[in-house]
Amino acid sequence: MSILIKNSTILTQNDSRRQIHGDLYIDDHVIVECSEKPLALEAEYKIDGTNRLVLPGLINTHTHIPMTLFRGYGDDMLLGDWLAQRIWHVEAKLDKKAVEIGTELGLLEMISSGTTSYLDMYFFEEAIAKVTERVGMRGFLGFALIDFDTPEYKAEELIQQCEQFVRRWKNNALISPLIAPHSTYSCKPETLQNALEVATKYHVPLHTHCSETRDEVYDVEKKYGVRPVEQLKKHGLLQKNTILAHCGWITKNEILDMKNAGVSVSHCPVSNMKIATGGFTPVPELLDAHVPVGLGTDGAASNNTLDMFETMKFCALVHKNHRWDPTVLPAQTVVDLATLGGAACLDMKNTLGSLEEGKAADLIMIDLKKPHLTPLHDPVSHLVYAVRGTDVCTTIVNGTPLMLEKEYLTIDVEKTLEQSKKIASELTS
Ligand SMILES: [Zn+2]
Repeated sequence: MSILIKNSTILTQNDSRRQIHGDLYIDDHVIVECSEKPLALEAEYKIDGTNRLVLPGLINTHTHIPMTLFRGYGDDMLLGDWLAQRIWHVEAKLDKKAVEIGTELGLLEMISSGTTSYLDMYFFEEAIAKVTERVGMRGFLGFALIDFDTPEYKAEELIQQCEQFVRRWKNNALISPLIAPHSTYSCKPETLQNALEVATKYHVPLHTHCSETRDEVYDVEKKYGVRPVEQLKKHGLLQKNTILAHCGWITKNEILDMKNAGVSVSHCPVSNMKIATGGFTPVPELLDAHVPVGLGTDGAASNNTLDMFETMKFCALVHKNHRWDPTVLPAQTVVDLATLGGAACLDMKNTLGSLEEGKAADLIMIDLKKPHLTPLHDPVSHLVYAVRGTDVCTTIVNGTPLMLEKEYLTIDVEKTLEQSKKIASELTS
């Protein structure tokens, strides 16, 4: 499939962060040319880029996509109460059908708000993978391991099922499998070691929650005598291609360990603040230590959206305010986190994160003809401080348009919304 975008402002996110006004040509899943001179080429899709901003698709590095069905079901609660009184109770009722519908809803929201890759961790990951592939989104999908029975499998079956999941999806164009031990507080050492074994055997990354809350750090220390990062290190999971979600309660020594091990971090500022974890992921220090950092929304049950533009803005603001310093995390750095940073977390820097010849054609277009985006002095500033997810008009993944000028090409919107409402009310009744 070929696509020609004409006469647009293009934010390449290349090494020199070049912005051009011109044309972009895509053929056979990749970016072929990005030019200031008009390109006189034929293409299956010709898109008028006037009043549009083209940029790399955003990479959401932490989600639990079926939890989109629990959006707004239990807000303003203490974490323990929220889990015990709301989430665990509805999660226990989940089945494959509900997960498929929740995944479709989450994908619809991500496509509509400019996400082109997402890193997930949940139960029923096989069902999530099938829906993601059918819809055409790029999914880095973590098969969750935990020490109790899930709605899908008995605890003792999980590792074997996980291995089969990895084998099935290992060489897929859109889906990359990961092993996702839930956390050091919910996985005993044996579970962590099993996860590492499968990850090593198949050369796939690990994804886990780490030091999200202060209670978690205390609990792990009490149980195992070490903090979560040290526990991961002790069992060999602190290694290159391990992606740690949150890291709101980590020390300078732990950053050093993380740097030496080559792990990366998914920073989820909106979810952290909504749950009131009280911790501040030390993003400037992690970046100084050259630890790759990406941005994540976390599940929509604790956010309550999957809007990466909102997450970018929160990311910029929370660190500035916390440090009494508006120069911390400038807009360009935050755009980098949502694009190149996410690509680095996923070890996909050669394929994703910028618009350069030969890279995957994952890109989005913003409709700039809006009151809140006028005037336009600096597109990068707008992306962090003014653009909303709803301003995205076109989303292209792997050279295939999933949304074109607000028209969804791979999802039946009406059906997805109706089914989602129905299943969500059944689950919560
Ligand atoms: Zn999470």
